[in-house]
Amino acid sequence: MLAADFANLEQDINMVNQSEADWFHIDVMDGVFVPNISFGMPVLKAMAKHTKKPLDVHLMIVDPDRYIQTFAELGSTVLTVHAEACTHLHRTVQAIKAAGMQAGVALNPHTPISVIEELISEIDLVCIMSVNPGFGGQKFIKNTFAKVRKLRALIDDNKANVRIEIDGGVTSSNAAELVNAGADVLVAGSFVFSSKSPSQTIHDLKQLASL
Ligand code: ZN
Repeated sequence: MLAADFANLEQDINMVNQSEADWFHIDVMDGVFVPNISFGMPVLKAMAKHTKKPLDVHLMIVDPDRYIQTFAELGSTVLTVHAEACTHLHRTVQAIKAAGMQAGVALNPHTPISVIEELISEIDLVCIMSVNPGFGGQKFIKNTFAKVRKLRALIDDNKANVRIEIDGGVTSSNAAELVNAGADVLVAGSFVFSSKSPSQTIHDLKQLASL
């Protein structure tokens, strides 16, 4: 939703509701962990009144433990925190699950898969950042493919039940290759909202991902 028209959020939310998209991906930025500020709670509460699909909330904020309960009350299905923002990542993951949500861990482009090796069986989703977080519309980092394959091997070796999500620079030119490498969830913002027909673009991406 970071790429939606903030002056017409209801209209863009309804487009997603009626589209083939599975989830709403919501990027929450605090201006500290990342150099940008996105939505605050009043806006998120207003948005949540209209969303009819699961909320996949991606916190790009420092000390995310402070907001776990707030996002549970908002109705989030998945709550993703950044490994780089959590001193006690295992504790944070447990707290998210105790609050009734699926726990996601996001990794910045420079962060190796090895930081989640010891807790892979505790996590529901790993979000691999394929751009440096902070702004929409950035160019996809190619090393992501190798990282997805590495993560897929770690998940399979541990027989863990973890979804791999790719966030940043997803387009029709890399969607199929990402799924082939082992990705389960593709986040698309600018590519969808800046296209002529966003719902058709979502349909096309889903087609590519299912090939
Ligand atoms: Zn995100």
